[in-house]
Amino acid sequence: MILRELSANSIKEKIIKREITAQEVVEDLFKWIGLKESLIKAYISLDKEGALLKAKEIDEKLNNGGRVGLLAGIPVAIKDNICTWGMKTTCASKILENFTPPYDAFVVKRIKEEDAIIIGKTNLDEFAMGSSNENSAFHVTRNPWNTDCIPGGSGGGSAAAVTADMAFMALGSDTGGSVRQPSSFCGNVGCKPTYGRVSRYGLVAFASSLDQIGSITKDVSDAALLLQVVSGHDCHDSTSANVEVPDYIAGINSVNNNLRIGVPKEFFGEGLNPEIESAVKNALGIYKKNGAELIDLSLPHCGYALATYYIIATAEASSNLARYDGVRYGHRSQLSEDNIIDMYSRVRAEGFGSEVKRRVLLGNYVLSAGFYDAYYIKASKVRNLIKSDFEDAFSKVDCIISPTCPSPAFKIGEKITDPLEMYLSDIYTIPANLVGIPGISIPCGFTTTGLPIGMQLMGKHFEEEKILRIAKLFENETDFHLKKPGLK
Ligand code: GLN
Repeated sequence: MILRELSANSIKEKIIKREITAQEVVEDLFKWIGLKESLIKAYISLDKEGALLKAKEIDEKLNNGGRVGLLAGIPVAIKDNICTWGMKTTCASKILENFTPPYDAFVVKRIKEEDAIIIGKTNLDEFAMGSSNENSAFHVTRNPWNTDCIPGGSGGGSAAAVTADMAFMALGSDTGGSVRQPSSFCGNVGCKPTYGRVSRYGLVAFASSLDQIGSITKDVSDAALLLQVVSGHDCHDSTSANVEVPDYIAGINSVNNNLRIGVPKEFFGEGLNPEIESAVKNALGIYKKNGAELIDLSLPHCGYALATYYIIATAEASSNLARYDGVRYGHRSQLSEDNIIDMYSRVRAEGFGSEVKRRVLLGNYVLSAGFYDAYYIKASKVRNLIKSDFEDAFSKVDCIISPTCPSPAFKIGEKITDPLEMYLSDIYTIPANLVGIPGISIPCGFTTTGLPIGMQLMGKHFEEEKILRIAKLFENETDFHLKKPGLK
């Protein structure tokens, strides 16, 4: 048995039973990171010293018979757009290269209280804008299944770290798919909860009405565990929902009676890789064999989701990113300026990469006086139509199943010069963000070239428990989640 290959739940059990110490787990993990990180490059920063200190504290508590938290001794990686007190939070941008937050994000505070061990901050596309990790200002993370391929984005660092067994679980953020898409490309379980279920306090804002913190884990039980810890109301986030948090950990093992699964035709059309189509159809067959009823559906406005997203997301991004002006914090140009406007433009020209600039420009355009009604208002109306499509669907079914992405992980460099082609990789994940519903990607197969395939389950608002349970049913019947890339 190789320790680092265990699930988070299993390693925690071993630590609690004192079969191994938390310090041994951390030492073992950093030894492996030392061997493989130069190839995968999942992290922007690592904190071995901090991790060992926390591990020691947990070991002492356990040795003295003290109570430990739900994540006792589990090494966790955090996407580098989630604020960590005293640890740099760069958003993979030059503009925040030296920013050390004076506070912890809500989710970070929660996992620390539950005795998780934070081992480092993971790579992402700059400000979470991208689908491949290639927009990071620092380096490109590689997919552990094939290091010529991207790990997905924007949370490719978190997904690659979990797949390469360089973290037992990870936190990410999902604005249009950045938890689910990299999870599908790397063969993990990626869960984006309902908008408002998990506080965004301390998550660096990209598009505030779409952003949601989520989890990347090795299996569904680990997803339930992490979601249990980070869910709940927070008065620091005005969009945080004051809705009771069910017991996800116990819930995933309840029985699925009279399950009705919706299969939307718009998610199986043109552009879908045939190997992915057949893997998801096989998975649907497994549900059917287990007593589920498959119901064909149509979500007629989903064809407009991508266009709607790129208006709303860029509009919100242009407003959120206006704060990076070099005055209070962040990058400041070394060149002298004659006036404040020159200073702002120099700071932003030097600090932002090209994708961020493209989005700020697009966002300002769609919000500008002459175009606001034609683009932003129109997009908001279409968003409501997409929402009603899902409401209609959920009056007939318990969950909707689709592929997570139309293609498997692609080669580094393959799509970087064609932004539209890149944007298409989120076509199936974006609707859940526009509507605010929960979505989870689970492994459901491999291509003939050995790349993981992900399947997406979407549920009604606040019904994470149900989709986790339905995901667990599939996991119980298959072993895709147990496969490992050959990184020996
Ligand atoms: N790839 C999408 C984008 O670039 C989604 C990113 C995300 O979810 N953070 O906007």
